[in-house]
Amino acid sequence: MTTTSYQLFINGKWIDSVSGKTFDSYNPATNEVNASVSEANGEDVDIAVKAARKAFESGPWADMAPSDRGRLLNKVAQALWEKADFLAEVESRDNGLPINETKFIAMPAMIDVLEFYAGLANKVQGDTLASPAGRLNYTLKEPIGVIGAIVPWNFPLMLTMWKLAPALAAGNTIVIKPAEQTPVSILEMVKIFHEVGIPDGVINVVPGYGHTAGDALSSHPDVDKIAFTGSTNTGRLIMQAASKNIKPVSLELGGKAPNIVFDDANIENAINGSMFGIFFAQGQVCASGTRLFVQDSIYDEFMEQFIEKVKTIRMGNPLEPTTQMGPQVSLKQLESIESYVASGLEEGASVLIGGERNKTAGAGYFYSPTVLENVTNDMKIAQEEIFGPVLSVIRFKDEADVLQQANDTIYGLSAGVWTENLKRAHRMAQGLKAGTVYVNTFSMLDSTASFGGTKQSGFGRELGIQAMDMYTETKSVWIDLNDEHFNWYGV
Ligand code: NAD
Repeated sequence: MTTTSYQLFINGKWIDSVSGKTFDSYNPATNEVNASVSEANGEDVDIAVKAARKAFESGPWADMAPSDRGRLLNKVAQALWEKADFLAEVESRDNGLPINETKFIAMPAMIDVLEFYAGLANKVQGDTLASPAGRLNYTLKEPIGVIGAIVPWNFPLMLTMWKLAPALAAGNTIVIKPAEQTPVSILEMVKIFHEVGIPDGVINVVPGYGHTAGDALSSHPDVDKIAFTGSTNTGRLIMQAASKNIKPVSLELGGKAPNIVFDDANIENAINGSMFGIFFAQGQVCASGTRLFVQDSIYDEFMEQFIEKVKTIRMGNPLEPTTQMGPQVSLKQLESIESYVASGLEEGASVLIGGERNKTAGAGYFYSPTVLENVTNDMKIAQEEIFGPVLSVIRFKDEADVLQQANDTIYGLSAGVWTENLKRAHRMAQGLKAGTVYVNTFSMLDSTASFGGTKQSGFGRELGIQAMDMYTETKSVWIDLNDEHFNWYGV
């Protein structure tokens, strides 16, 4: 297999890092090197921030009319559609997502986000306020400046686009720090932005490690905002680093979603939706329904049918269209999943299916879809984010019981409810502490619908019209309309 080389992308140019260092990015399905990538550290981040600052303050991007910005972003979207299959394959090689999930879910969703915000570029509006007599006050909505985007490896393109598209639509410039496991698809995507004509310095990419490049970006005094998606622990470090120059942060962090099946649910739909909720993307989804609460009265019947379905999941080469589950992203993740399952068993859980590596699916980091029962909500596997294909099943008695258990977590990203009872569905939607509640569905996303967490799942809402607020500042302008001179002191 040939290894491709990638450089940093700064100020419209492909350049080596100052240190000349590189790192390897692996194909998780084969455990072979997928690409050799220039490794950015603090000096490179500084160069990238300077380029982004210059492009923000002067030049074609700073002067561009919002309508032209939107038109240009739409042209990029068109080019991305034309290269969507290529990008899907690059991303599948990069992080192991099955090609059907990159091609038919992640890529279309990612490009739709760009189109959505391209359409908002010329709809950024301030207000004219009810001002006192003789005075006029209005607000300007202005771009914030240089945005630092730090993204994880599970959906590199989509989660980058959630930040990149609104940031650019509002007129900001950006420095992107991809996850060290998956820099390649982001670099390929940015190449397309550049080819279509996004001016130099508007988008910069500094692949590298979190404690070096990531920390340099979040603590940089000339970065105006950090948009982060990743783990709760890293979110904490980013808040600390960003506090050095009081830059605002938006944090999309971990989750431990409850997925609740009541005895009045449509069982077949609940089984299919709950399987998608946990095994989509090998369980490497922050919103995954990792705690499955099943009502006592249907528990045996539901679980029997659920396990029969899980047995049919096809694991293997992510590039095969028939594959339904690929490898975990890295050996580190695989080992972490193993240690979580071991801890669950030690605490009294039992394996209904899976619970081990899949050695027949390929030479990479494959872990079988796993369902653990006899789990109680206080176990480590029910409280900590595993970020793998491991479902913890918990029985419950009634609505009050399950609501209490579902909310008994430090996380609050998403939650699911399966019921045919309309009143119960609305009661649960109100009672669950989460940024998103799914009723009779799971893991739905759309450019129009805001997404984000409560509690230690973070704050700020990506997607939707509201996300433009995270990339604009409101400036209040006062105009004195009186002819006589304002003179408080009367001298
Ligand atoms: P991570 O926090 O380890 O890494 C995420 C990014 O942060 C990477 O680019 C990494 O290099 C960087 N980073 C690491 N340490 C840093 C530091 N000290 N300073 C600055 N940057 C640093 O997370 P991960 O393991 O790559 O991703 C999985 C996590 O992301 C899970 O917890 C998952 O729930 C979360 N996630 C959340 C969402 C969401 O929208 N809420 C979406 C996807 C993933």
